[in-house]
Amino acid sequence: MYAEVLIEYKVKSLDRSFTYLVPEHLKDVVKVGMKVTVPFGQGDSLINGFVTKIKYDSNLGNLKSIVSITDRELILNDELMELGHFLRDSTLCTLISAYQTMLPSSLKIKTINSNYQKYDTYIKLSVPSEFVKTYIAEIRGKKQIELLETLMKEEKILKNKCSVSAVKSLLDKGIIEEEKVQTYRISKSLEKEEKSVVLTEDQSNALCKIKDSFNNSEVFLLHGVTGSGKTEIYMHLIQEVVSSGKSAIMLVPEITLSMQIVDNFYKRFGSDVAILHSALSQGEKHDEYLKILRGDVHIVVGTRSAIFAPVKNLGIIIIDEEHSESYKQDNTPRYNAIDIAKWRIEYHNIPLVLGSATPTFESYARALKGVYTLLSLPKRVNDAKLPSIKVVDMAMEAKKRNMILSEYLKEKIIDRLDRKEQVILFLNRRGYGTLVSCMACGYAFKCPNCDITLTFHKSSNALRCHYCGYYLKKPEVCPECKSQEIRESGIGTEKLESELSKFFPSARLIRMDADTTSKKGSHDRIIKDFKNEKYDILFGTQMISKGLDFPKVSLVGIISADTTLNIPDFRSGERSFALFSQVAGRAGRSGLESEVIIQTFNPDNFTIKMLEMGSFLKNYQYEMSIRKKLKYPPYYYLVGVKICSSIYEDASIEATKVSKFLKEKLDRESIVLGPTTAGIFKIKNIYRFQIVIKYRYDDKLKNALKDIDEQYINHKTVYLELDMNPYYI
Ligand code: ADP
Ligand code: ZN
Ligand code: ZN
Repeated sequence: MYAEVLIEYKVKSLDRSFTYLVPEHLKDVVKVGMKVTVPFGQGDSLINGFVTKIKYDSNLGNLKSIVSITDRELILNDELMELGHFLRDSTLCTLISAYQTMLPSSLKIKTINSNYQKYDTYIKLSVPSEFVKTYIAEIRGKKQIELLETLMKEEKILKNKCSVSAVKSLLDKGIIEEEKVQTYRISKSLEKEEKSVVLTEDQSNALCKIKDSFNNSEVFLLHGVTGSGKTEIYMHLIQEVVSSGKSAIMLVPEITLSMQIVDNFYKRFGSDVAILHSALSQGEKHDEYLKILRGDVHIVVGTRSAIFAPVKNLGIIIIDEEHSESYKQDNTPRYNAIDIAKWRIEYHNIPLVLGSATPTFESYARALKGVYTLLSLPKRVNDAKLPSIKVVDMAMEAKKRNMILSEYLKEKIIDRLDRKEQVILFLNRRGYGTLVSCMACGYAFKCPNCDITLTFHKSSNALRCHYCGYYLKKPEVCPECKSQEIRESGIGTEKLESELSKFFPSARLIRMDADTTSKKGSHDRIIKDFKNEKYDILFGTQMISKGLDFPKVSLVGIISADTTLNIPDFRSGERSFALFSQVAGRAGRSGLESEVIIQTFNPDNFTIKMLEMGSFLKNYQYEMSIRKKLKYPPYYYLVGVKICSSIYEDASIEATKVSKFLKEKLDRESIVLGPTTAGIFKIKNIYRFQIVIKYRYDDKLKNALKDIDEQYINHKTVYLELDMNPYYI
């Protein structure tokens, strides 16, 4: 018996299977999808790999044998083995990295560490109870007697709950014994909350349509305004799927941002839920993965990589906030979880539900064309009204020296504080000042490793780079002209904080950004405290925008719309609309009269106008007309090719070569743009040039990309990053 083994070398030229002999003692054990250890290369050094095929004959001589199996339980099933090929072909990664991407990190590493499994030790009787009774009569130790009496009633008890000395004496005498039982680190033995929600008519209609397709690989786009009850529909769907004996995967953007959702799932489904996300410890991830692998749970809630969960008998996939960029991985393999979901629903013949208040234009276009089935929830539940939107022109405010908080916003904040309602303020920059420069000569402090200015953090009195972590104590004098006139400008969340405490000294403020949530659990605590009304004003970055449901919030302020609007990217109109709608959606969810205030220097900007009108559709139509003219998605597909090097000249020269090569090889209808310098040209001392390919149909594309990819595999100073359908260009 022979096995083909795909070895764990991330070298593209070695990305193929090698044949090994299966030794006698492993013949009944080795299976396709299992991880094994094999000798490889000249020194026969040991390396892990996946069994990709079992064969009964081979014409190769002199074969080496499989040494051992790394984990008997861990097997990539047939579906995932096949999915690996799709992942490789669609992102142009190696097959081995495709398989590794599907596994939690505890199972990716070279030697699987058995410490990942956690055990509880129990004690139980090792002799018949009659014997114990006679024994009890003879001993004096009170604790020992108590322990034995309990053990005659209960089969076993946790060792660490018992008296140490009593356990020791009884163990020594051989009357009790230990038993180790594997436990899961996250174990929810929660009482389920029996809550019966009567769905609204819109909700029931959507639910029925999806239920009718439980045996079809149909994609639904659930377009529902914030607070329209999408989550409730997901729960009903999952309930149905689980009661028919099948399983469900639900993806959420960033789980730390969505702990509220996870809590609701635990409440509804108890211990039938596994969660998978990056903030879990390695051990927790390992346990959650095993629960799924063993079929101990039927519901998986997780972030992007949970799309690979080895769920048995899958019945539905749900992707919440489908427009979120977190579904696209930004390192190799650059896959999009939505593409993986589509592949899996075809495999199982089950539906995929994409939900959002602001779907991506790609998705919406597909829905309008009938490729996806569009389901709309235009109203909030319980007759709650969407907030009214007010745009404030900051150019006028600047004349009155109101740089951060406009008169109007201040008035409204006071009003909410008086009424004991809550306020959320959104500002997409952390730190204090976002630009630090010398007033005398104009010198601006930049990161020496990245092509970006440093941000001033007042709390640590330092200038920091948000890309590479570089930092510098705030200098007293300008390095160029020795002037002491060093000032910071631009606003970050720290500065907003000092401004708020100046104007509203008695208000209770809480800041939420990467700086205040770095400790595990701090994020949840802020959310719980705000929900319990320990604070009046919650302010922070992106983090505050998603999935949160606070009934008392009736005012939302967007401090500076321009930082988001001015990002030079063809999707910035789409994204700003989505982000601001999301933030705005935190207001008035329980029916309070609510308002959203948008501060901007561009009140006439089209996206701002559309937000004011609350028209997703008009914004879509306008942006689509531009996309069509400029040949952007969804009219054209994009490929981003980055040419990277720590040596500027090398990157530049090779970028020109790559562009020339692509222009020669690709279909004449395809467009090759660049090289230009990529978004942020230098990050962590790596220079990055970018070429963008726009195409509709191109048979030659994949081969041309593979060709250039191979040309640079062994290049000394330059490497390529290929991105099919990039989110940013
Ligand atoms: P979305 O996910 O669309 O933003 P949610 O599902 O979070 O909306 O619903 C918003 C609020 O309305 C939640 O507090 C939820 O519990 C409540 N809700 C949802 N559906 C119903 C319903 N049919 N009846 C009463 N309350 C509902
Ligand atoms: Zn200077
Ligand atoms: Zn840097």
